[in-house]
Amino acid sequence: MQNFMTVLQADITTLNVDAIVNAANRSLLGGGGVDGAIHRAAGSELLAECLLLDGCETGAAKITGAYQLPAKYVIHTVGPVWQGGQHNEAALLAACYQNCLQLAMQHAVKSVAFPGISTGVYHFPKRQAAEIAVTTVNNYLSAQQSGIQVLFCCFSAEDARIYQSVLALTI
Ligand code: ADP
Repeated sequence: MQNFMTVLQADITTLNVDAIVNAANRSLLGGGGVDGAIHRAAGSELLAECLLLDGCETGAAKITGAYQLPAKYVIHTVGPVWQGGQHNEAALLAACYQNCLQLAMQHAVKSVAFPGISTGVYHFPKRQAAEIAVTTVNNYLSAQQSGIQVLFCCFSAEDARIYQSVLALTI
């Protein structure tokens, strides 16, 4: 069931996939971390398109072109800020993955790479976030039979190890 999910350690801006996901903030106007890296690599046309989008709610997703990136699309999603776990963080993070995959399907995307949404400056615990990512993607793609390949793109070796161990436990 999990042959459509792969873990790799890479800079997401280098990946030659149909779509990469950006862990953005609600303004969609760029920021630090993976968001900053994506905007730098895509070029100023990405910011110009994002200016037209009127931001994005937490848990939602919006799609743009990818400009100078090797990918065709950037899917921007806004993860929850970790506030201790009692503020709907898990459901909002799952919604990020679902809404990104829904947009991917609508745009006939065949391969999509996700960063660890919310696990940087938003401080979502890494293992729990990986469990939500893997479970949500597995459930969504099993139900849709979309044929989409999902890459969990980890920046660090530690993050890749966490995803590998979570994937190994997922049927
Ligand atoms: P958030 O605000 O959602 O926490 P961050 O950008 O701070 O977003 O971090 C999200 C994840 O993206 C972290 O696991 C971080 O290590 C990772 N990350 C940062 N830069 C890159 C990159 N260039 N490619 C892939 N992952 C990255």
